[in-house]
Amino acid sequence: MRRPNLTPSLIAHGGAGARTAAADPAAVERGTEILRGGGSALDAVVAAVVTLEDDPLFNAGYGSVLNAEGKIEMDAALMVASPANPIDEQPVDSTRPGSRPPTGGRLRLQAGAVAAISRVRNPIMLARAVMERTPHVLMVGAGAERLARQAGLKRCRPEELVSQRARERWRALVESRAACGAAGTPAHGTVGAVAADVHGAVAAATSTGGMTGKLPGRVGDSAVIGAGTFACPRGAASATGAGEAIMKVSLCREAVRALGRLTSQRAAELAVAELEQTTAAQAGIIVVDRRGHIGYAHNSEVMEVAMFDPATGIRHLVVEPLVSSCKPSRTG
Ligand code: ASP
Repeated sequence: MRRPNLTPSLIAHGGAGARTAAADPAAVERGTEILRGGGSALDAVVAAVVTLEDDPLFNAGYGSVLNAEGKIEMDAALMVASPANPIDEQPVDSTRPGSRPPTGGRLRLQAGAVAAISRVRNPIMLARAVMERTPHVLMVGAGAERLARQAGLKRCRPEELVSQRARERWRALVESRAACGAAGTPAHGTVGAVAADVHGAVAAATSTGGMTGKLPGRVGDSAVIGAGTFACPRGAASATGAGEAIMKVSLCREAVRALGRLTSQRAAELAVAELEQTTAAQAGIIVVDRRGHIGYAHNSEVMEVAMFDPATGIRHLVVEPLVSSCKPSRTG
């Protein structure tokens, strides 16, 4: 059911860090088409992220960075918050694996994530399969890959996901002997999207290859609900940047919780400023509230975003970093 006071909107990021290629406007166009047609925030963010995963310029899907052993291990997550869902009115098929009971309440929260996977072309689709076809939130390893097969997702050999750019980055890292650190090197180009739809739902999706030279088995913030990806009835957020720091402060959850008292823009700025104060790390975040108001902020060298809202249409922006003296304040 359309709710007249709700505005559909979407914002996507292509990572925070050093200057990289411009965010792919096709991703936002795909998501926008869906929202304009009355489609769901979930479908819109998944479509946007799939487009970015397919683009080798980004560190997600094809083009993901390589770990310390020169292998790909990808993380992805999505989360949706919707008001009483039409599914609640449908009979439940309890014979179907993963079939869920009606929520019976005013709110439906759904989440799905995968970590350290390497045989799936679009990790965000597998995160969606975890959310829609299992009773779980986060899956890894052989079980996640089996689910990909059951869900009919496009699978591949890990080598097919390695772009020339990722291989060159990895060689440069190995040659400079930087691969000995446990944390890896920020790679930039993680992708994410958040959207609000006319039905009152919000969704967030994030997908990444992580950090170049990371230890095998390392899982970053993108797959961790509350850290790199989060949604609740107030809004949704997707983050990028130093994953270990983002996890320690639950960056996306903090930003979305602040929507109760701050605008989307101020909530994004405050979350990044607090992360910087607490951890001295660099990160970026995009935020949308349930009325479709968009916010974005970062404290790295550069972050590019592309966004859609009905008032201004589709825009692409290179976002200025927060000045490092930006102090968290509760009054924005
Ligand atoms: N946050 C990602 C990770 O730590 C990397 C990034 O966004 O650049 O895996």
